[in-house]
Amino acid sequence: MNSGNSRPLIEVEDLGKTYSMGHIEVPALRGVSFDIQRAESVAIMGHSGSGKSTLMNLLGCLDTPTVGKYTLNGEDVSSLGEDELAVARNRLIGFVFQSFNLLPRMSALEQVELPLMYAKSNNRQQLAKEALELVGLGDRMRHSSVELSGGQQQRVAIARALVNKPSLLLADEPTGNLDTTTTNEIMNLLHDLNSQTNVTLIMVTHEDDVASRCKRVIEMRDGRITKDIAQLQP
Ligand code: ADP
Ligand code: MG
Repeated sequence: MNSGNSRPLIEVEDLGKTYSMGHIEVPALRGVSFDIQRAESVAIMGHSGSGKSTLMNLLGCLDTPTVGKYTLNGEDVSSLGEDELAVARNRLIGFVFQSFNLLPRMSALEQVELPLMYAKSNNRQQLAKEALELVGLGDRMRHSSVELSGGQQQRVAIARALVNKPSLLLADEPTGNLDTTTTNEIMNLLHDLNSQTNVTLIMVTHEDDVASRCKRVIEMRDGRITKDIAQLQP
């Protein structure tokens, strides 16, 4: 589907989310608006509780907004039901998490094949191998998660996120569990993938060093955007 290709990948207008807990309403996101172009790299920063994960969940089609409009790849996804959201998610979005979210007893190759099974793709093993080679794990494909270092596990998770060739890669604190050296390696990898494949990269981070490598930084506070700044690249 190419209908959205001349438009920004992401168009968000007055997006808001209020969680109801019994009689208490928690306004987690209070009306944010922005566009994100294809192949951009964006860091989202802000204190704990500022609404970063709520925003990522909405952008990732894991949840629906209370108010506002979200257009992804030219399609209004703000009012889709569960099933349609799952289709949009599988087709367009890859996720990477702080805790890697790998299954302990599966080989790297099997983990990366999983999204291809859900998408009923042919040629699964070959595509999974290519994705693992892309993240530098060509020689570790038969290893299970417990046999891999943290950095290697995050590489497997990145290969799994990218194997369906999504337009959007969402990473919620992808280096939060990694030491400085490994953080730099994973950042190099994510930025190389961003420039080589044109996948749009949006990541939540608390680290200035990590954010400074993105082309744009969005800062949040109390459910609102307080800064949205394009950065000069070194
Ligand atoms: P961040 O990721 O920036 O730490 P969150 O988006 O997780 O912030 O949370 C924003 C606000 O929404 C916080 O006040 C949090 O307690 C609240 N919140 C988040 N998820 C839920 C939920 N499922 N139910 C109720 N309140 C929530
Ligand atoms: Mg969070």
